[in-house]
Amino acid sequence: MTQISREACRKLDAADPLAPFREEFLLPEGIVYLDGNSLGALPRATPGRVADVVEREWGRDLIASWNKAGWWDKPRTLGAKVAPLVGAAADEVVVGDGTSANIFKALVAAVRLNPGRRVLLGEAGNFPTDLYVTQGAAELTGTEERRVPAEPAALEEALAAGDVAVVLLSHVDYRTGELRDMAALTELAHRHGALIVWDLCHSAGAVPVELSACGADFAVGCTYKYLNGGPGAPAFSYVARRHHETARQPISGWHGHARPFDFTGDYEPAAGASRFLSGSQPLVADAALEASLDLWNRVDLAQVREKSLALTELFIGITAPGGTGPGGLRLVTPIEPERRGSQVALSHPDGYPIVQALIARGVVGDFRAPDVLRFGFTPLYLGYEEVFDAATALVEVVESGEWRDPRFAEREQVT
Ligand SMILES: *Cc1c(COP(=O)(O)O)cnc(C)c1O
Repeated sequence: MTQISREACRKLDAADPLAPFREEFLLPEGIVYLDGNSLGALPRATPGRVADVVEREWGRDLIASWNKAGWWDKPRTLGAKVAPLVGAAADEVVVGDGTSANIFKALVAAVRLNPGRRVLLGEAGNFPTDLYVTQGAAELTGTEERRVPAEPAALEEALAAGDVAVVLLSHVDYRTGELRDMAALTELAHRHGALIVWDLCHSAGAVPVELSACGADFAVGCTYKYLNGGPGAPAFSYVARRHHETARQPISGWHGHARPFDFTGDYEPAAGASRFLSGSQPLVADAALEASLDLWNRVDLAQVREKSLALTELFIGITAPGGTGPGGLRLVTPIEPERRGSQVALSHPDGYPIVQALIARGVVGDFRAPDVLRFGFTPLYLGYEEVFDAATALVEVVESGEWRDPRFAEREQVT
């Protein structure tokens, strides 16, 4: 990786086709925000949209808003806006509930679609909630949870045993930032008779995703990271059209019923992805998400990918060229661009205080145990020059030892 100059970064900013989007976000002065992979920044349009839903749709129109403001259909309206961001058809995605709940629904539905097979397969390095929910789903369905290391060979071996009902994989690893080959791994699962559920938490809004083209069965993703939907924003569920008539998810609530306003006594699933809904949704939070999705629907995702790779390359070139950097920094994220999501993870035994010292300088990243410094790159509101400055600040923090100040060692509840 070659290191480029600050001057060259300024030129890249001047020629950046995504630069105008920066104005559409409200970011505090004086910080470089490299944590949009944890909580995306606030779009300028969001506060007004939320206020309108609260004051007009709720305050004035009250219950009429279920029809008049499209509240009832909001999970589908929002799903249709997420769909183009993940390579799905509009009717294959619904928005509602949280990521963890939706993973549970998808896993149980997949097990039921694959009777006679008794293993839920996952990878040991997956995000903990994915592991925990898999355990819960296995317990409830009388299946077995099995884990393998995140290597294609280990996955293939486990699938070849022939008893895997469903495999749950993260498209981009939350810790390392590694991007997996969705097409190849989906084909691998199918070849061995398993269904596949993709976790897109670190993919949606970060990298191009082609769910339909890859033949994925189910996918789940959160909207508060790269999609800027706001803290605790509802998640989305993708259900491939071929499963629309047969998938049965376990939280069979009235919002997923075929005729909810008949108020009949028995559950009958709705047609299509709507059957993955359960109950009433947080419409104020939906308003915040919709403001952001309306922005996203104006974005060219190929430009996002191109700039994302340029930004991560720039950051790596300064902090860990060739895989290692000053003061013992080590690159965890794959160096090959095609295997990289939109984040850079570095390891250092003193990662926690280093991140804290960096935050004190106005560069916001985060830390993931045991030793990973994580930096997310969001091309809509980050520029080249500030990424250059952030990377330079990190090198200075490590080389100067300023992270050794005891105040940087104090751990808060959320790291
Ligand atoms: C962020 C993240 C989650 C979050 O789950 P929630 O239910 O929204 O808290 C799940 N999986 C992965 C891979 C994540 O990165």
